Amino acid sequence: MVVIALGAVAIDFALRSLLVDQAKAQIAQTADQIALVAREASSFGFSEDAAPVLIRLSDRATLDRWASANEYIQIDTAQGQILGKSSNLGGVAFAPVTPGGDRQYTMMRVGGVRPTTMLVLDRVLTDAEGRALAVAHVGERLDIVDELTGRARAILLAVTIAAMIMIAGASYFVAQSATDPIERLTAAVAEIGSERLDRRLRWQRRDEVGRLAAAFDAMLDRLQSAFARERQFISDASHELRTPLTVINANAQMLQRWGDRDPQVLRTSLEAIADESGRLAAMVSGMLTLAKAESGDAIPKEPLVVERIVDDVVLHAREPAHVKGLRLEARHPVAAQTVVVGDAGLLRQLITNLVDNAIKFTESGEVAVAVRRDDGHAIVEVADTGPGIDDAAADRLFDRFFRGDPAHARNIEGTGLGLAIVRSIARVHGGTVSASRRPEGGSVFSVSLPAEPESFTPAQ
Ligand code: ADP
Repeated sequence: MVVIALGAVAIDFALRSLLVDQAKAQIAQTADQIALVAREASSFGFSEDAAPVLIRLSDRATLDRWASANEYIQIDTAQGQILGKSSNLGGVAFAPVTPGGDRQYTMMRVGGVRPTTMLVLDRVLTDAEGRALAVAHVGERLDIVDELTGRARAILLAVTIAAMIMIAGASYFVAQSATDPIERLTAAVAEIGSERLDRRLRWQRRDEVGRLAAAFDAMLDRLQSAFARERQFISDASHELRTPLTVINANAQMLQRWGDRDPQVLRTSLEAIADESGRLAAMVSGMLTLAKAESGDAIPKEPLVVERIVDDVVLHAREPAHVKGLRLEARHPVAAQTVVVGDAGLLRQLITNLVDNAIKFTESGEVAVAVRRDDGHAIVEVADTGPGIDDAAADRLFDRFFRGDPAHARNIEGTGLGLAIVRSIARVHGGTVSASRRPEGGSVFSVSLPAEPESFTPAQ
């Protein structure tokens, strides 16, 4: 708006100075004409006397010829006495000038019926030798200039005001259309709050606000499913924890009633309580590990050699495998060093869970843990010759508290958390885990983790 106002002032100024310049040129031309006549007249003079020339110059009829409707002429002597005026000047007279003030334009305010400003040029008239004969004043009324600039000013003012109103309106509209959706978005978001996570904005806009709303909806999707998972976990956990607690409670009551009288009840109830409390402890520690694994970024990470962890886990599992008569071995080139960055405790837990399961579910044969590198990834495969896995259940094996048929049917101990922990640990290390049935029988669990470039596998 300021620029438009300044522009209008500049146009006004430029127009006025253009018109004034034109008027200056006009009166300069008349003054030149008079000066020329004066010089020529004086050159015909046969005496030193300037009087005849002056009389000729100040003749009213001559002056009226030079003058026009807007142009006024007055001739003074070199000393400043008025010799003659064009008749349109009436009672008005130009102020005398002393020679030397030649070619000076001055502005003069004239009153009367049509008050206006007059532009006046004072020109000293000289003879052929350059002696001052008289002074000519040529004036031009600037009514037309005033009128034109006045009109132009009115138009510019109207245009400026109209432009300002349009700009103000457009700015208001733009500001409104930018803030309106944001305000509506804020209101909608506030309404959704934590209580109504199932609500979505579903705005079909293609602009930034639309993308913001879509991002918000996507975030709500994730939040809702995270909350749902948490709720499911709490409900599963309380359900799973209730079973051993119920058993412990029932056996404690039996002990209270018959424990001191019946040694059989005493023994079996104490055994049951010990078993179930052991399961409870395993479950609680499993849940803690799961929480730690799911905390993601908080876990410390350091470069680790996968082969060393596998060797260590296999060494510790040797005893339970031996008890079941199973062959257990780690398969990888001796000098191989596959490096991954991660938490040593969690990665050991991951491999331990897989090896423990393999030993637990396998009745005869062998359990083998292989490490290899594939396309920048460290692959750990735990294969067994157990019952294998049911294709239908393969996806659900990794869900929390999921326990497959063989586990329940054969009364194999477990919490249903082992593979959920495996998946969480693999995820926080940027890896994946999958299970499949081996064609020759048994199952194979495969974990893939991003390997570091310094990994080394000797040529076989
Ligand atoms: P848990 O071992 O405590 O039952 P997991 O989460 O470790 O819980 O395993 C979930 C289920 O996956 C088991 O109940 C079992 O049905 C199946 N499973 C896991 N490992 C094996 C395996 N090596 N062979 C066959 N089934 C397995």
